[in-house]
Amino acid sequence: MEDKKNRNNRKEHVLYLVVPCYNEQEVLPETSKRLREKLADLIGRELISSESRILFVNDGSKDRTWEMIEELHEADPVCQGVKLSRNRGHQNALLGGLMTAKEYADMVISLDADLQDDIDVIDQFVEKYYEGCEIVYGVRSARNTDTFFKRFTAEGFYRLIRLMGGEVVFNHADYRLMSRRALEEMERYQEVNLFLRGIVPMIGFQTGVVTYERHERLAGESKYPLKKMLALAVDGITSLSIKPIRFIVLLGMFIFVCSFAMLAYSLIQHFLGRTSIGWTSLIVSIWAIGGLQLLAIGVIGEYIGKIYLETKRRPRYIIEKVLR
Ligand code: UDP
Ligand code: MG
Repeated sequence: MEDKKNRNNRKEHVLYLVVPCYNEQEVLPETSKRLREKLADLIGRELISSESRILFVNDGSKDRTWEMIEELHEADPVCQGVKLSRNRGHQNALLGGLMTAKEYADMVISLDADLQDDIDVIDQFVEKYYEGCEIVYGVRSARNTDTFFKRFTAEGFYRLIRLMGGEVVFNHADYRLMSRRALEEMERYQEVNLFLRGIVPMIGFQTGVVTYERHERLAGESKYPLKKMLALAVDGITSLSIKPIRFIVLLGMFIFVCSFAMLAYSLIQHFLGRTSIGWTSLIVSIWAIGGLQLLAIGVIGEYIGKIYLETKRRPRYIIEKVLR
């Protein structure tokens, strides 16, 4: 769909900040305060419309997060809320928020509730939007505040996805601006196993990059432990490419070639009358080939599982309530 609003007329463009929240009661008061200040500042400087809002998405929190969002909405209607019917994970919560915001906004910025992503670069995001970008990626310039472990695993994550043929922006998480037009196109990607970071670059259009430094979490602890991160990586890889299956094919070919060498070796041993030795090589190959076969079946199973889940076409999120 063509964009009808003139991007020179800044006061007409509505910005929504979409913030997924899962058990974030420790950070919400400070986060909402800072985001409201930021929004008021942008509105005051006539960079965005006064209709701009903050949309908190409660991803089935078990603490007081939703009650706090309701209170925030009561106190100041600039804060709005979406309540998912249960915990669906960061990616789905984000999607639910983006799709809700798309109805009212001209541009949407997604960011984490812990404000690890520097909100002062929102100005630059908006500026890039007015320059004509449909998507603006927030890219971390440094990871000084992350622990060595987080940094190592997170950077390994991007490398692995790239190696496996996924197209992702290095060190870009889900801090990004998307125009309504880009969101409308994203809605056409109907896959159930959603990996937003892989889908967004597929959309195309004019894009921009904003770099920022990542801070420490305001309070509370990470809701992305290693287990969830690994699950996200597997999801990312299998939903973006079939390279793992290609690797298996190559490996299979390689082993097939090796088996010729083994054949020659066994025949020579046989004619030399030394057939009783070779127990070691036999045991080793049984384990090696057996292990490889299981691995191969596992990888293929991963894809079949994905096909199974995709064919069910289950909803990606269910909205219980919207505060507007
Ligand atoms: N989050 C969510 N659902 C989940 C897990 C996390 O909505 O199941 C949200 C969380 O509230 C936060 C964002 O996703 O706003 C990123 O999580 P976190 O900051 O814990 O991840 P990290 O920055 O440590 O990777
Ligand atoms: Mg965080």
